[in-house]
Amino acid sequence: MSRINIQSVGYISTRDTKGLSPITSAEAIKRGISPDGGLYMPDNMPRFGITDLARLTKTDYPGRAAYILGRYLTDFTEEELLSSARAGYAGFDGAPAPVREISGRESLLELWHGPTCAFKDMALQVMPRLLSMSLDKTGEKRDALILTATSGDTGKAALEGFRDVPRTKIMVFYPSHGVSAVQRLQMVTQEGGNVSVLGVDGNFDDAQTGVKRIFGDPSVISALGGRGIFLSSANSINWGRLAPQIVYYFSAYCDMASEGRIKPGDEIDVCVPTGNFGDIFAAYIAKVSGLPIAKLICASNRNNILTDFFGTGVYDRRREFYTTSSPSMDILISSNLERLLFSVCGAEETAAYMKALSENGVYSVSQGVRDALSDVFCGYCASEEECTAAIKHSWENCGCLVDPHTAVALACAGKYRADNPGVRRRMLVVSTASPYKFAGSVLNALTGSRPDDETKAAAALSELTGTPVPAPLSGLESKTVRFGGSVPPEKMADEVLSFGKR
Ligand SMILES: *Cc1c(COP(=O)(O)O)cnc(C)c1O
Repeated sequence: MSRINIQSVGYISTRDTKGLSPITSAEAIKRGISPDGGLYMPDNMPRFGITDLARLTKTDYPGRAAYILGRYLTDFTEEELLSSARAGYAGFDGAPAPVREISGRESLLELWHGPTCAFKDMALQVMPRLLSMSLDKTGEKRDALILTATSGDTGKAALEGFRDVPRTKIMVFYPSHGVSAVQRLQMVTQEGGNVSVLGVDGNFDDAQTGVKRIFGDPSVISALGGRGIFLSSANSINWGRLAPQIVYYFSAYCDMASEGRIKPGDEIDVCVPTGNFGDIFAAYIAKVSGLPIAKLICASNRNNILTDFFGTGVYDRRREFYTTSSPSMDILISSNLERLLFSVCGAEETAAYMKALSENGVYSVSQGVRDALSDVFCGYCASEEECTAAIKHSWENCGCLVDPHTAVALACAGKYRADNPGVRRRMLVVSTASPYKFAGSVLNALTGSRPDDETKAAAALSELTGTPVPAPLSGLESKTVRFGGSVPPEKMADEVLSFGKR
């Protein structure tokens, strides 16, 4: 797979109204967010055709990843990308992104066979390696210290991704009273020489606010700088997290074609359970780059701000926030939506919408933007009851055990079907977490009751369904606890400084 004749891709900010020069992908990955507050986007989109798909079909997942990534991250060599993908996906249990047929016209793309059993691994097993190489490529002398506040899942996936990656350290703060027992155990038993985990006395907002304060504290930044360290983040607005997510849509298409579920060139629809809009936006990029996708179905839970947005063109965050059984989709500000706006209307308009959102909590897009969006996207949402029913239906009718996030997507895919009876395209539904990550909710959906302990729920679910508890989630109690204790929010900066010394 030679890389001759590929067009080089630069990166520009979604809020760049001045027309600054594009930067390299390594620089974009190192920076994470643009100094103007915008997100980085490619200045031109690579195109993949039928011959590319045929080539991709013949190779394994890391080979596919290197081929696709190579066209967006043009300042990385093929060897660098291939070795990152090989190392990143080596810790997966079998194929990283298997496609499973669930009905005559629906397929499920399972993205949770990585070390933390949720789809964040697909990007977080690769992005840290890209970041580490980006430091070398950009001539950065300092090492990166990743700071993360987590409500549970992202922290563990980031710890696993960064563990022992050269030139990086990672410190994760979690709310002492805001994560489940399993999530806490997953984090405090984390292995690796460059990791640290600490509880914060308070809730997720306290931890998050504390981290933001440290990012803006000149005394911390200069003290770390004196030791050759700069602060960085691993959150999903970094282009290095988005790019690896484009790969699995191409990979799924190739697999469906080689299994005869579709003919090469056939259009498909894709339904994605959505929170921060990263996963579904990666599907949009795949479409813009030539993958035959017709419609993108944006699936939300009771926090249905995106459903309203695609329905009305108004994004209004001045609304109640609900806690649901699909917590990773409990979001009112979907950061990556900014990238979509930029794609359809450019930096000027995007910057104005984002300003309105931060000042007034609401913006309303022009009719032209609405039309462009509704050509491709449609939004649906599912209630808690519909989510529960989808878990039960999927297990009883297809023998497929799904988690609540995936169930939201299945319920929304069903609504889309009902509204569009004439559409005959195959639907790819994205499955984002192992059912065992949310064993209590899944067990409750199947039996109407649940034990209050998640480990017991997992054992009962396994017994009931005859499916195994994934290895990363079993035997947690017997692992060595490496990190204990918690600090009040005002002590977080001291902890960062003392970790920076080690
Ligand atoms: C993060 C997450 C999502 C939402 O993905 P976005 O890229 O934020 O839209 C959905 N399901 C699970 C299980 C997740 O962890």
